[in-house]
Amino acid sequence: MLKRLLSAALVVVATYASDRAAEPVRYRLSFPEPQHRWMQVAAAFPDLTQQTLELRMSRSSPGRYSLHDFAKNVYDVRVSGKDGRELPATRPDPDGWTVAGHGGAVNVEYKVYGDRVDGTYLGIDTTHAHINMPAALMWAHGLEDRSATLTFEQPPGRTWRVATQLHPGSRPLEFIAGNLQYLMDSPAEFGPIAMRQFTVDSHAFRVSLHHTGSDADLDAYVKEVEKIVRLAGAVYGEYPDYEPGQYTFLVDDLPYAGTDGMEHRNSTVITWPSALASDRLELLDTVAHEFFHSWNVERIRPSGLEPFDFDRANLSGELWLAEGFTQYYGPLILHRAGLTDLSSTARSFTALVDTVVNDPGRHTRSAEDMSRMAPFIDGGRTIDRTNWSNTVVSYYPFGGAIALALDLALRDRTDNGISLDDFMRAMWRTYGKPGGSREGYVDRPYTAADAEATLADVSGDKAFARDFFSRYIQGHDAAGYPRLLARAGLVVRKTHPGRAWLGDVLLVTRNGVRVSTLVAPDWPVYATGLEQDDELQEVAGQHVRGESDLSIALGRHKPGDRVPIVFTDRTGRSTRATVTLAEDPHLEVVPVETPTAAQKAFRARWLGK
Ligand SMILES: [Zn+2]
Repeated sequence: MLKRLLSAALVVVATYASDRAAEPVRYRLSFPEPQHRWMQVAAAFPDLTQQTLELRMSRSSPGRYSLHDFAKNVYDVRVSGKDGRELPATRPDPDGWTVAGHGGAVNVEYKVYGDRVDGTYLGIDTTHAHINMPAALMWAHGLEDRSATLTFEQPPGRTWRVATQLHPGSRPLEFIAGNLQYLMDSPAEFGPIAMRQFTVDSHAFRVSLHHTGSDADLDAYVKEVEKIVRLAGAVYGEYPDYEPGQYTFLVDDLPYAGTDGMEHRNSTVITWPSALASDRLELLDTVAHEFFHSWNVERIRPSGLEPFDFDRANLSGELWLAEGFTQYYGPLILHRAGLTDLSSTARSFTALVDTVVNDPGRHTRSAEDMSRMAPFIDGGRTIDRTNWSNTVVSYYPFGGAIALALDLALRDRTDNGISLDDFMRAMWRTYGKPGGSREGYVDRPYTAADAEATLADVSGDKAFARDFFSRYIQGHDAAGYPRLLARAGLVVRKTHPGRAWLGDVLLVTRNGVRVSTLVAPDWPVYATGLEQDDELQEVAGQHVRGESDLSIALGRHKPGDRVPIVFTDRTGRSTRATVTLAEDPHLEVVPVETPTAAQKAFRARWLGK
């Protein structure tokens, strides 16, 4: 089976290559000193027709929504022309090298440092080369349609193997991409990998694992991955046609790896710092999430993400669907695959429902607005302070909660006749399945209006679709989760009923006991003027030396009580005020003890038992 698929892949490559009259861009990657964590890159840009060549390092990477400026790790850059003589390069901006007077071909050699094993960066050491292409490869403006070859050289004394979604070339460590979009979307793991494969519905899947565990660990893991692949396929009714002939899971399970998952068109990178067995469910949830992306985002693609722009951050208002719906399906697929139980699935719903109901950010920004925050919040920490804890809810749980509400609303209206699976399938048939006329591209990316029209179509109710989008996606409402979940025998209830609450205030001991969180406008204590960095001294007559004193003080009171509070702000001004305590609003989703026959039947249709 694999042999047949591989030869089919070679035919595809030959077709792509013959479309392009110009010679491919050629990259050679070598690792003379892997212990020092840098890689040597030699890149050849032949057949140049323009007078100047604009070489670039990417600022961003497919699947990441923020800027990363990969040029920061590039050094020792040497440029030469057709006759081999060295050429000067000017620097138009921090990410570019511009070469003039090259005579029709440019060779560039450089070193790139990388010491981060995850889905975005580059990780070189004596155990492997873990390569995300935008973090590693210079490319050129105007040559985006050129094919490329990539050749790996073994580090001294190693016999590593390559796992990648790139097409195999004519030599063992040579690989091919039809164009820049596909090249940049194709990470590679070069190391002492173990490889397993399986077939579902005549589609081939490979699991490449670089780990410190046993073969038995790997085999057990691959069995669970296969279950996930089957149940994810059942949502859509079919698999995409993976261009290289198979889909590849590139897994690095190493003590020095970061915790990450990154989707690509025909592969995913999953990195994990603990052994396979210990974080089993979280790791499998990541597998389900990333694999679901091979439909939702890689092929059913929001228009703002197509094509990917390596010079700037793409912007999309639809990440609540692209990421949030994927976030919802991860635990759902694990449950349907029999890999989790009802209480753990209910916990995943708790995280969605409590976030969307209680996080203050929903009142400031809609799900679409939150999606557009991705270029800022997907990059990690900022240097300046932000008020995001009050004004931003991540589009992952926000969109996941919207998916939960929509799935249950569709099922509720039709007695389980229509569900979110039907919506995803309709999006797939209209926007994903038509694919792209060029490998790595999507010809029919969707807009929010397209998604709403698809919902109108699937539900047969245009007014329902309009109402749902205007209230929960463009507006600021939270859906009626208690009623929706009750049909499946799940209860939404207060996590701490009757507990007095003044807000989710966290404290830190730093020159006194100080507030370490922003104070949200909908917390009872907001009205007193208490804010981050203020020193909290007394609550309800109790001297506060830490969070446990705060709990003790509140434990003596009930919601509705008015209690004194004493604090000093960071300018030294002291305040004595009164706060009216509320009931702790946090929610949890739990199964009812004895579900009715109707609830059991509903649950079985939804969660598959
Ligand atoms: Zn994702």
